[in-house]
Amino acid sequence: MSEAMLTVKDLNVAYGGVQAVRGISLEVRAGEITALLGANGAGKSSTLLAIVGSVKPGSGRVTFEGQDITAQPPEALIKKGIAMIPEGARVFARQSVEQNLHLGAYIVRDQAVYRQRLQQVYALFPRLQERREQLAGTMSGGERQMLAIGRALMSGPRLLLIDEPSLGLSPLLVEQVFDALAELNRQHGLSVLLVEQNMAQALEVAARAYVMQSGRIAIEGTAAELAASDEVRKAYLGM
Ligand code: ATP
Repeated sequence: MSEAMLTVKDLNVAYGGVQAVRGISLEVRAGEITALLGANGAGKSSTLLAIVGSVKPGSGRVTFEGQDITAQPPEALIKKGIAMIPEGARVFARQSVEQNLHLGAYIVRDQAVYRQRLQQVYALFPRLQERREQLAGTMSGGERQMLAIGRALMSGPRLLLIDEPSLGLSPLLVEQVFDALAELNRQHGLSVLLVEQNMAQALEVAARAYVMQSGRIAIEGTAAELAASDEVRKAYLGM
């Protein structure tokens, strides 16, 4: 069994009087895609933002490979090998595709490593290579999501945290983006925490999953267990 790479223990997040995350614990195992699922407002994004220190948790602990990383700045996490793609795939609109990728590699000093990563990103998303001179702001939603993933990969992460990559994409593009995550996981051993509302498609690529409801983990298990569970099928998959 693979061991836990990222561990979240008893995490609480509150915004003023609103308790968004109510004492959740979860783990992402090395070499696996783990999905964090749930409806609008369940507390998924707040969990992710607290993991990367963008939101200060009221209490709880986050560890990465055994080290406490609770409330560390983004730069420290990137250096440890953690990359985060926030919801909405924000890219630098007035910069070209390739400039965006270059910006993602700001911690990379070795030119050979930089070129190799760029080639890997272009091999994964040939569309980005075709459009390398295009301004990122003029790319389609799906292309921007690919660019956001590509930019995150330029830092050479071992763990990728990604918030709702399917948002606003057509089913075909969702499949392409999820296929890319699966390929990165299979071929490069990239570990992923995939935050998603699109439960059916997320369960196809994930090894295990957690379902959040009103700030708590309501259900957890392997993706196969969740996909077969009557509760999940009725309440979340509309079957
Ligand atoms: P979605 O899929 O819609 O993004 P989510 O599961 O990611 O939902 P969160 O965005 O974490 O859920 O929101 C959880 C709760 O916290 C919601 O009730 C939301 O309104 C509230 N919330 C989120 N961000 C803030 C904020 N900055 N200030 C106040 N309340 C917030």
